[in-house]
Amino acid sequence: LQPRRGGPKNLPIAEVYIDDDEAKAKTKPRLVILGGGWGGVALLKDLNPDDYNVTVISPANYFLFTPMLPSATVGTLELRSLVEPIRRILSRVNGHFIRAKAEDVEFSHKLVEVSQLDHKGKEVRFYVPYDKLVIAVGSATNPHGVKGLENAFFLKDINDARMIRNKVIQNLELACLPTTSDEERKRLLSFVVSGGGPTGVEFAAELYDLLNEDLTRHFPRLLRNEISVHIIQSRGHILNTYDETVSKYAEERFARDQVEVLTNSRVKEVQPDKIIFSQKQEDGIVITKELPIGFCLWSTGVSPTALSQKLANKLGDSQTNRHALETDTHLRLNGAPLGDVYAIGDCSTVQNNVADSIVSFLRKLAWSRGIEPETLQLHFSDWRTVAQDVKKRFPQAVNHLKRLDKLFFEFDKDQSGTLDFGELRELLNQIDSKLTSLPATAQRAHQQGLYLAHKFNKMAKISDAMLANDIRDGDLDAAVYKAFEYRHLGSLAYIGNSAVFDLGEGWSMAGGLWAVYAWRSVYFAQSVSFRTRSLMAMDWMKRGLFGRDLVA
Ligand code: FAD
Ligand code: MG
Ligand code: MG
Ligand code: MG
Ligand code: MG
Repeated sequence: LQPRRGGPKNLPIAEVYIDDDEAKAKTKPRLVILGGGWGGVALLKDLNPDDYNVTVISPANYFLFTPMLPSATVGTLELRSLVEPIRRILSRVNGHFIRAKAEDVEFSHKLVEVSQLDHKGKEVRFYVPYDKLVIAVGSATNPHGVKGLENAFFLKDINDARMIRNKVIQNLELACLPTTSDEERKRLLSFVVSGGGPTGVEFAAELYDLLNEDLTRHFPRLLRNEISVHIIQSRGHILNTYDETVSKYAEERFARDQVEVLTNSRVKEVQPDKIIFSQKQEDGIVITKELPIGFCLWSTGVSPTALSQKLANKLGDSQTNRHALETDTHLRLNGAPLGDVYAIGDCSTVQNNVADSIVSFLRKLAWSRGIEPETLQLHFSDWRTVAQDVKKRFPQAVNHLKRLDKLFFEFDKDQSGTLDFGELRELLNQIDSKLTSLPATAQRAHQQGLYLAHKFNKMAKISDAMLANDIRDGDLDAAVYKAFEYRHLGSLAYIGNSAVFDLGEGWSMAGGLWAVYAWRSVYFAQSVSFRTRSLMAMDWMKRGLFGRDLVA
């Protein structure tokens, strides 16, 4: 049976209905999800099994539990324990999986163009039709235009973790050879992490644990003081998106553990055996430095995937953010036909209007006092009310700013105890420039996936009746369901047998072993399945009893 061809490129069109009753299946809307990561899987988890023909398209046939990836690189956890087959997750909704890469979307034809290599290694392309499309393709590693990244390792997926693990073990073994010179051994044992965000910090911490806990036992030849771990960070502090207390705790902890933190430093080039970077000194002078590397991890943030970039370009003026696909507050892709296409997770950002909403708050305040907004003098107590609202809605971004309280006094230039309209405008501009996007976290992708599941469930129940009555201009999303609101449940990072929590609103905690267990239980609860939970629990137990498996 030859598939039908069509669309702008006249490619084969894959039509798949998986249902016992094909006639019935054909009446259901086709829901196509691009990506089987945190966003896509959260959506699958809460979607009613009977309402849609579900197809997931992804080059990876597994869901990856990313928060534990740094642990897997050093053998604290088995790599297998962190993945869950997508087909297994899909079976609940009788869904269909296509292992391929989305290349493009033809919005007016409602077709996704996908590519895959066939058994001869030749690329094949075809279309997958949709009624509703969810883009959840995540993000790519940001190269920042640095030379020599082929000499560095990344930590995005399971293969990366496997390669890192092998490399670390290989370096330790080489360092033990009697023929290895002192200088070469120092280089082999010099581990450099470029990027002081949560991934880099957690990797450095896990590596330190490994070197400290297992090394002396299994590699008695290696002297502890020949091993060095360095973190290169471009900003003034590591974990700089977290609360101040958290990043300070992390820095002190690393100082005690002799993990070297190099701040205000920019990597220029990664060579096979050394890394070259510039560091701004306290007196403002920038000097160039280098470190020998046996291993270098590149984890300096994320950038959009090729697909996201292509779609953003295609949608032209409706997409103005350089870092992510913009959606409205109902998570519908801006510029695409209303209600057809959604974007969630790392690949997306919800357009927000913080400044607008603050200004309208101030207007109301002014009118309620019977004065013109332009003549309003904002007292500190008024500011507090505004700040509460901003904090609630943009907790992650607020950590980038100084305490909102402090901002009030900083922008009260004439020290009158009130902010006038001009002072307020400057303050709002600063806030607006920082509050551009939601955090690129599993937590956010998960919330957005669940949001869409609940909305789609409701739409399936209601759409026929609504459409028949033609209520509210066809804006079904807005008619049946509330806008998406992000709830910040805090962030955590793991640092050398302890965990730090950033709970937002100025709350933070740091602690020893109890915190590690609290941290693990949080991720246990977020984890997708009982299977994954059991596997990880067994890994931790095994490690506790026997130490890590240092084989590769
Ligand atoms: P992803 O989970 O990345 O999923 C994207 C999916 O799309 C993948 O299945 C991918 O194969 C697929 N895909 C890619 N391109 C295409 C294409 N062209 N067509 C079809 N499919 C495609 N977040 C936290 O909240 N807490 C943490 O502790 C934490 N730790 C992390 C540690 C590491 C090492 C890493 C890398 C990330 C960590 N994160 C953490 C971030 C978190 O993993 C991401 O924010 C989250 O994965 C985003 O979910 P997503 O669904 O948008 O994308
Ligand atoms: Mg996803
Ligand atoms: Mg993932
Ligand atoms: Mg993490
Ligand atoms: Mg003033």
